[in-house]
Amino acid sequence: MVLLIRGKSRCSRCGQVLAKEDEIVGFTHFLGAEHHLWRYSDSAMHAACFKDWPEKDEFERLYAEAGEKRRALAKPERIEELRRAQAQEHEARIRRDAEHNASHARIMATVQEHGAVCPHCGLRSTSFRELDGTDRLRLACRACGRSCNADELNLAASDAEKTR
Ligand SMILES: [Zn+2]
Ligand SMILES: [Zn+2]
Repeated sequence: MVLLIRGKSRCSRCGQVLAKEDEIVGFTHFLGAEHHLWRYSDSAMHAACFKDWPEKDEFERLYAEAGEKRRALAKPERIEELRRAQAQEHEARIRRDAEHNASHARIMATVQEHGAVCPHCGLRSTSFRELDGTDRLRLACRACGRSCNADELNLAASDAEKTR
């Protein structure tokens, strides 16, 4: 629970001191800093400030969800289930990366033979280099130095027209 000192702590909505006689609502930390309501997630408010807060419904829903998740996580079988789900997600990601890289290699071979148009500078060339050090291969245009996925390149537009 938020450390609340009546007569000193301030309401996270109106900024006024939370007085001894005030009716107060408090929340534990439950949102990450990336969330737009994050600064309220470890705070207290006047009950009245909370009541007419436009974000009240969303906040309450998120708070209830976080509470449920916390309770569910406390069960060992849920932890095992979660661990399995994470492992599956990890394997799926590796599979998707491999697919991405296979199609990257295919496209790269075409680029080196026929050239492609850079989606950034619009220059058509065969002059792309591979970037390494990433799970998913990317390439960079030597003309402008910017990088993209192989499938973002405009491969032979003329070939596409020929097949029409
Ligand atoms: Zn207030
Ligand atoms: Zn470029």
